[in-house]
Amino acid sequence: MQVLVTGGMGYIGSHTVVELLENNYEVIIIDNLVNSKIDVLDKIEKITGKRPDFYPYDLCDKELLKKVFMQHKIEAVIHFAGLKAVGESVQKPLLYYHNNLISTLNLLEVMKEIDCKKLVFSSSATVYGSPKELPIKEDFPLSTTNPYGSTKLFIEYMLKDLYQSDPTWSIAILRYFNPIGAHPSYLLGENPNGIPNNLMPYIVKVASKELDHLNIFGSDYPTKDGTGVRDYIHVVDLAKGHIKALEKVLSTNKVDCYNLGTGIGYSVLEMVELFKKVNQVDVPYQIVERRAGDIAECYADPTYAQKELGFTAEKNLEDMVRDSYQYFLHNQ
Ligand code: NAD
Ligand code: UDP
Repeated sequence: MQVLVTGGMGYIGSHTVVELLENNYEVIIIDNLVNSKIDVLDKIEKITGKRPDFYPYDLCDKELLKKVFMQHKIEAVIHFAGLKAVGESVQKPLLYYHNNLISTLNLLEVMKEIDCKKLVFSSSATVYGSPKELPIKEDFPLSTTNPYGSTKLFIEYMLKDLYQSDPTWSIAILRYFNPIGAHPSYLLGENPNGIPNNLMPYIVKVASKELDHLNIFGSDYPTKDGTGVRDYIHVVDLAKGHIKALEKVLSTNKVDCYNLGTGIGYSVLEMVELFKKVNQVDVPYQIVERRAGDIAECYADPTYAQKELGFTAEKNLEDMVRDSYQYFLHNQ
């Protein structure tokens, strides 16, 4: 079965392509490499012994997208492609609305035209805004605090409206919590350019002395030790969740949302301490002001994904912090 993976050269996409190939799906990737590198293709082949078809196209170009659908018999799509930096989205909202929304509209219009109506979409826990209760369930109220989050929420609305208009579609909306870690081959992982926004890549750059120290954004939150709490999930577990979601869309006709997290919240200080212990490195830090827009705690209730998709994250936080650092050490 042929599956199109948009954004398949990126961090989560590349790990998912590996899982798809290992589960004998044929994979076609479209990715304009705006936030990834061409050598990911060789690495995927090294791990799996298979090389997916790759098109370096921008999804905002509908004619090119159509060409790919005409050349293959695509039965389902996993849609990762999008820009994802929260801070940049506040500075450049039109870039984010244009890229994330036009690309998705083009994709949905072409899928409709070709009659390929099975889709797995990358959403985010950011659509829960500042949750009133924890753990977060899929039916909690939705809201966003930045343009990136708004693109995810608008796309969720588009997908639900599309299904309402035509229930022959089958759509899984996956709301990821905080993916970290890397493939155990250490060929694939996350390596952002410049100064990272997210905690784990920042810790890695401090541990490797590329950056002087970690700034911990606030120690006065109403949490176990005052620092922010998040639900970190290993990227390989997350990738496996996509296989389960794909199986679901292939066997049902509905639109539904699933949290992909572990259900366990860890604080920033717990992350730093475990990283130091597991990797035997120092991670100097300073406590600074809270980061604008941050929430105190965010962790999933993962029971719906367990029940409906049969998905449970298997790797623990030690695996995550070890693999994040080992990926860095293997790729410098
Ligand atoms: P990533 O940036 O590593 O991967 C996204 C890929 O999409 C990149 O390879 C990029 O080149 C490609 N892309 C972007 N715009 C494109 C376009 N117009 N046409 C073709 N290709 C395009 O990001 P990721 O961490 O792998 O995230 C994948 C998806 O999951 C994104 O939609 C992201 O918003 C979502 N998500 C990520 C996280 C996270 O913390 N990493 C959390 C929640 C949701
Ligand atoms: N964080 C921090 N210093 C950093 C980056 C992040 O203290 O340099 C904290 C942040 O305030 C939050 C947690 O680490 O409590 C996770 O942040 P990240 O940006 O990785 O994820 P998100 O906030 O988007 O869930």
